[in-house]
Amino acid sequence: MKEVAILGAGYAGLRALRELQKQSEMHITLVDRNDYHYEATDLHEVASGNQPKEKIIYPIKDVVDTKVTTFVQDEVKKIDPDQQVVELKQNQPLHYDYLVVALGFESETFGISGAKENALEMVDVETAEKVYDHIKAMMEKYKETKDKKYLRLVVCGAGFTGIELVGALQEGKTRYAKIANVDPAEIEIYCIEAVANILPMFNDSLTQYCLDYLNKWNVHLLTSSPIKAIKPERVIYSNDDQDKELEAATIIWTTGVSGSHVIGESGFSEKRGRVMVNDDLTDPDHENIYIIGDVSAVMDKESNRPYPTTGQISLQMGEHAAKNIERQVKGEPKQDFTFKNLGSVASIGNTHAFGYVGSTGVKGYPASFMKKMIMNRSLLKTGGLKEVMSKGRFDLYH
Ligand SMILES: Cc1cc2nc3c(=O)[nH]c(=O)nc-3n(C[C@H](O)[C@H](O)[C@H](O)COP(=O)(O)OP(=O)(O)OC[C@H]3O[C@@H](n4cnc5c(N)ncnc54)[C@H](O)[C@@H]3O)c2cc1C
Repeated sequence: MKEVAILGAGYAGLRALRELQKQSEMHITLVDRNDYHYEATDLHEVASGNQPKEKIIYPIKDVVDTKVTTFVQDEVKKIDPDQQVVELKQNQPLHYDYLVVALGFESETFGISGAKENALEMVDVETAEKVYDHIKAMMEKYKETKDKKYLRLVVCGAGFTGIELVGALQEGKTRYAKIANVDPAEIEIYCIEAVANILPMFNDSLTQYCLDYLNKWNVHLLTSSPIKAIKPERVIYSNDDQDKELEAATIIWTTGVSGSHVIGESGFSEKRGRVMVNDDLTDPDHENIYIIGDVSAVMDKESNRPYPTTGQISLQMGEHAAKNIERQVKGEPKQDFTFKNLGSVASIGNTHAFGYVGSTGVKGYPASFMKKMIMNRSLLKTGGLKEVMSKGRFDLYH
């Protein structure tokens, strides 16, 4: 019986698992450092405290069919593609005939000094919870000191993730203000961004919708302001060729992500933890290794640039990689991957959103409704109906 190892139980890994479990000709080993799957697209809701972590996680064992799959909770240290072995932190090395690498994303500091040490990350459940615990602690400190820096929250980066976080923090303001015993208007949210025009993936009308809300909420959006360094409780950025300093006790880093460090450490040919994979999603040097989700780059032949790494493309890659492994085992030729873009919707808080469904622009309530439907669909793809029923978003009427 062929041995398939899947590394990572995120969108890409779990989607591959669910597809492979439909057959019984292979034995599968799934490895993840956690015993739960988390919806990474909802991490900002945990970081802002708007949702408890239980709402965005479910046990991996819920989707493991023990007749064909063994789940190993462990940390992947390294992959040896030549020996076909995965080195784990605690367990014996894992041998595979086929490998699916789906280890996801990590925070990327782009070498900006002090970012790692002095800003908070939001890359998994643990770091998201730390952000919320930190905000609460800073609100308590304000009560003792009356120093305004404790009421100031800075989001570094106004990309998709940064903007979704800003929206969630805005929604959390009333709760934070209660802890600090101040009016919610006294909590200040800043968002600092290097480029002049945010969210280039959306058209002007959608971007304006977002900007109008940020404006209405008094969010301080500083564009054309590249961050130079993060010092303890200080962001150093430049604007109009002048270095400026913003003092704040909460600084959250969302300027970008790279793929898992395991990719580089295992000797794959990569850039920022991502491998430019073949059209069939295999590693260019190993046709039994599929590299999918945020650790991979897939070329969009129309724009001649890699597709942005998203949960949506990760799910589609997971399904495709699994089907290709089935073809390989049967001695059939592998097929090339084609990404079907279903659109992309960004939330700003629980009731506002904007983006594209297919190629149609949506904003306001219809967009917020669609965002929740997208989240439910993604839960269905990885966890199945059971998880949608217990964790799905059905708070549709406001
Ligand atoms: C706040 C936020 C909002 C987002 N919103 C959207 C959105 O609206 N739409 C969209 O399409 N995308 C969105 N994204 C992007 C999306 O979340 C990622 O593209 C997606 O999570 C990538 O999926 P993945 O399966 O490759 O990896 P991940 O979801 O990162 O999963 C990786 C898995 O591997 C495990 N793992 C990692 N390293 C190890 C190791 N060394 N050993 C063992 N296990 C390990 C992790 O525990 C995790 O379970 C958002 C991201 C963020 C942070």
